[in-house]
Order: sequence, then structure tokens, then C-alpha cells
Amino acid sequence: MSKKFLIANWKMKLNAEESIQLAKDLKTEISKAKFGADKEIAVAPDFLSWQAVAKILKSSKVNMACQNAWYEDKGSFTGEISLAMLKDLGCQYAILGHSERRAFSGETDELVNKKVATALKHDMTPVVCVGETFEQRKEGRKDVVIMRQVQEALREIDIKPEQTLIVAYEPVWAIGSGQAMNPAEAEHTAMIIKQSLIDVLEHQDLPLVKIVYGGSVDSKNVASFTNIDVIDGALIGGASLDAKEFINLIKKA
Ligand code: PEP
Repeated sequence: MSKKFLIANWKMKLNAEESIQLAKDLKTEISKAKFGADKEIAVAPDFLSWQAVAKILKSSKVNMACQNAWYEDKGSFTGEISLAMLKDLGCQYAILGHSERRAFSGETDELVNKKVATALKHDMTPVVCVGETFEQRKEGRKDVVIMRQVQEALREIDIKPEQTLIVAYEPVWAIGSGQAMNPAEAEHTAMIIKQSLIDVLEHQDLPLVKIVYGGSVDSKNVASFTNIDVIDGALIGGASLDAKEFINLIKKA
């Protein structure tokens, strides 16, 4: 069975004290669960609690991720934190182009593309988020929107043989709604993503690219997505905020 990637996005949902408590709970529960090499786990806390969480989870099975970062390494970019800085602190995964950043922070495909290139330059694993809105789906434009997002985000990107890149398919309307996409439709869209990856990455080795599903995944429905051949894991918001539920979800994945 292929390795499953379970990536938790804590968003801006917890204050520093709550993040630290969740990290401690996670560490305790993870050590009891004894997950093997077939489960790759990462958490993305907010930047205020990031280092404290990293310290708690150091030498545990949990890797560190960021929810966003800037593509230049250093310079006059007020308010930004660079991928290079995060890499120095042990950040392995970078969630990039999340739909909430596209909607509320003006993140464009072009910007996502620059961030993906920088993440790979620093040997981090980009988790590139793509997904259609409710209106785009209703208008029958879902597949075209997804293909464009994948192609723009990965334009002229080279992945070295030892690197991994993850595409997170997250229908915008499914995020935080409690209404996950039908697994058959997620499978169909993952196939579209795979075809787009073949087109944009041309000669490159596709096993280096993983596809995960995100959007109201919990311990009850996770297996219906991770049992699909073309889906290699999940990006999880709400259900990752409770250590026991998240561990249960990982077990079922
Ligand atoms: C997300 O924000 O990436 C996400 C998948 O959230 P939720 O699991 O809460 O839908």
C-alpha cells in the first residue's frame, strides 16, 4: 500500500496557548498510536506559535508545515516570512495557494508558482492547493478551472528525483462546510489533475507528485478518499483541531 500524507491546517483557529496544548496532546496520542512509515503526518500552526509547536513535536513522527510563506529569501517585504527562514527552522511542508489566501489575500496563480519554485529550491515539499468555487462548479467549469490552476502553479517547475510535490484538491465549497465531495467525483477530478500534471511536467517523473483531497475530511469519511488509488492522503482543517479525532483519522486513512 502506498504512503498516505495527512496534513493538518490549523489556520487562524487557535491562540498560542491552545496551539501548544494541541501539540502536547498530539505528541502523547501519536506516541501511543505508533504509526509506521506508511503514514506521513504534518501540522501547520499559525506563525506565532510555530516555533513552540515545532519544539514540542521535535523527534516525534509529526513534521512541520507552514500555511503560507513568501518566495524571496530575505529583504524589504514588510510583514512577510520567507520559505528560507522556515526551512532553517525545520519546516518540511509548505501549504501554498490555499483557497482562503486566494479569496482574502489576493494570492494569484503567478504568485503561487513563484512560491512553489522557491519551496523546491529549499528542498521543502510544496502542498499546492487547487479547487473550484460553488459557482464555477454550477456553471460546469470545474475541470477547466482545476486544469488552469495546476498548469499555472507548476509552469516551468522542475522536481528533482529526491523531491516530492503534493497537489491538494480542495473544492472551495466543501471546505469547512461539513459537506465533503462525493468520493467518486473526487476521484474523477484527481484523474483530471493527474492528466494536467502529465501535460505541465512533461518528461518528469510523475510518482514524485502526490494528490490529496481536502474539504470536510474527518475520521468517518477519510477512508472513502484514501482508498482511492489516485488519492494519496488528505489535507485536514477542522478535524485536525482535536488530537484524538486527528489520530483516529490517521488510523482510518
Ligand atoms: C482546509 O482548510 O484546507 C480544509 C480542508 O478545511 P476543513 O477540513 O475544515 O474543510
